[in-house]
Amino acid sequence: MQPLRGTKDILPYEIKLWQQIYNVANEILTANNYYEIRTPILENTELFNKGIGNFTDIVNKEMYSFNDQGERNITLRPEGTASIARAFISNKLYLKQKINRLWYLGPMFRYERPQRGRQRQFHQLGIECIGSSLPIADVEVIRLAIKTLDALGFKEYILEINSIGNMAERDIYKNDLIKYLKLYQNDLDRDSQKKLLTNPLRILDSKNLNTQTILQQAPKLKNYLNEKSLDHFKYVCNSLKYLNIAYKINDYLVRGLDYYNCTAFEIKMKKLSNQNTICGGGRYDTLIEQLGGPYTPSVGWAIGIERLITIKNKNFHLNKPQNIIYIAHQEILDKYKIWDILDILENYEIKFELDLSNNNLYKQIKRANQMKAKICLILGEEEIKLKYITIKWLETGTQQKIHLSKFYNYLKYIKQQLET
Ligand code: ATP
Ligand code: MG
Repeated sequence: MQPLRGTKDILPYEIKLWQQIYNVANEILTANNYYEIRTPILENTELFNKGIGNFTDIVNKEMYSFNDQGERNITLRPEGTASIARAFISNKLYLKQKINRLWYLGPMFRYERPQRGRQRQFHQLGIECIGSSLPIADVEVIRLAIKTLDALGFKEYILEINSIGNMAERDIYKNDLIKYLKLYQNDLDRDSQKKLLTNPLRILDSKNLNTQTILQQAPKLKNYLNEKSLDHFKYVCNSLKYLNIAYKINDYLVRGLDYYNCTAFEIKMKKLSNQNTICGGGRYDTLIEQLGGPYTPSVGWAIGIERLITIKNKNFHLNKPQNIIYIAHQEILDKYKIWDILDILENYEIKFELDLSNNNLYKQIKRANQMKAKICLILGEEEIKLKYITIKWLETGTQQKIHLSKFYNYLKYIKQQLET
């Protein structure tokens, strides 16, 4: 039995890293007054058709959609923002406060060709700052993406940023772009030829070299932006400079979802060439209104966790000595003592593992060594009879006998030793 293509088990030894990412994000985002939200994985397909846009890659060819037993058309969410916009509307979050700062971490589903850093079930950590049209909100969210990556120990990345203006500006630009590209229609790659009719802006970030050459002489989106859009973008860039966040303006950056306007950005790893984008985000002022809510300008981003982990895993070691106490014991009359000892260990928040093997003491101690425990507590017949515990320090082999009545206090010393 194999997992479905493009899906993966996250195994116990990997969980620490996932927990670390969750904890770091939680700490930074909570300090900035962001609140975690968890929305359902299943949504009406219509949400994504309307929200992400019918002609985007995601809606067009990547969605996991099906009819349920009640003939409802359902989709496994391919991203987080549309669901959060939906939750914002259906729970009327706008009645409680003007600005809603939300974050999430969870699985997303896209039917894509699986490869390194690209799965069909993957996870995103994302934030949404909902309710402000000010450029300072864009700066806040970009700063938090950088903070989060820095706190997780990432360094070799670059922030790319662009302004894609508002709908009206883009419409005029789109017409001119189409006019220009039609002159070279036959030289464009097949995918771009199709996009010429459906989603011409997406041609800008084509990876095809021929298409890229044609684009060099194409009209530039930034020349179509009015003063308001330009000022917004200037404010964001100047603030990034002030914050010492290095960035590169990328005229061709447009993002894959329809709902973005003004600021669009991506964070890329410098060293990787494929699947090097670890974070994508931008401003989406009209999405919530488009889905039936009040006009609510917003901005956010999403980080792909698997892509982070493929980079980070190299520095992640297993099998180092564990701060764990192994409890070896013999078939004994007074087994209750064991439960008392477990209680004491729990009180001290010391990690332990109780032997369940039915092996003799010698083999149990061997097992403690194999799993690189620091200490083995030994409770043999003799120990129970005379009410003491043998404590074996596995790194040195030193053995001590401690009377049960003194064990509780002695653990204070053990705990200190484990922590140094
Ligand atoms: P790409 O161009 O790589 O397909 P995208 O523009 O479709 O990315 P977004 O929708 O912006 O990606 O999602 C934000 C982040 O989520 C990406 O930067 C990436 O890190 C991650 N991501 C997107 N799709 C996948 C996937 N299929 N597998 C793993 N991570 C993904
Ligand atoms: Mg994609």
